[in-house]
Amino acid sequence: PAAGTMTDAEREELRRHGILLTSLEELYNWGRSNSIWPLQFGLACCAIEMIAAATARFDIARFGAEIFRPSPRQADLMIVSGTVTKKMAPLVVRLWNQMPEPKYCIAMGACAISGGPFKQGYNVLKGIDRYIPVDIYIPGCPPRPEALLHGLTQLQAKIRGEHLAGPDQAQHLRPANPGELP
Ligand code: SF4
Repeated sequence: PAAGTMTDAEREELRRHGILLTSLEELYNWGRSNSIWPLQFGLACCAIEMIAAATARFDIARFGAEIFRPSPRQADLMIVSGTVTKKMAPLVVRLWNQMPEPKYCIAMGACAISGGPFKQGYNVLKGIDRYIPVDIYIPGCPPRPEALLHGLTQLQAKIRGEHLAGPDQAQHLRPANPGELP
């Protein structure tokens, strides 16, 4: 049978004989899911926990995501870690639009998900998913570094299930003009 239609038992039988079978799609997704490059920026207190995830104690490098990039052109993961004020939102969206496809977004913490403790205020966005398609939500105020690592493994699982013909890039573009944001 073709690699994509084999049962787990058949794969295991081949593996016992030292034969590994895969498809180009699986190999491609395996590589992408284990070399995620997050954009290096933080917005508030949740960012401190994100930074902690990169330290030796939590070691985000175990999941291949330790290369935080200072340029959106080199990043494929945006971790929105903190309060998104309405003044900052257009800049976050612009950074998102500058990231190449395929790209992903993690909303880390209550503020990024819904505005958190500031959602009654006049100046805070009530969820970054109103402007950027969020792949993974991590609740908490703040979530611990372990929660971010768990979210990262969930994102890896999502990437491994994708097909080579990915979503239309235009779907991921959002208005970058500050005038188009409330
Ligand atoms: Fe700070 Fe809590 Fe908002 Fe995170 S969710 S940025 S810890 S107030």
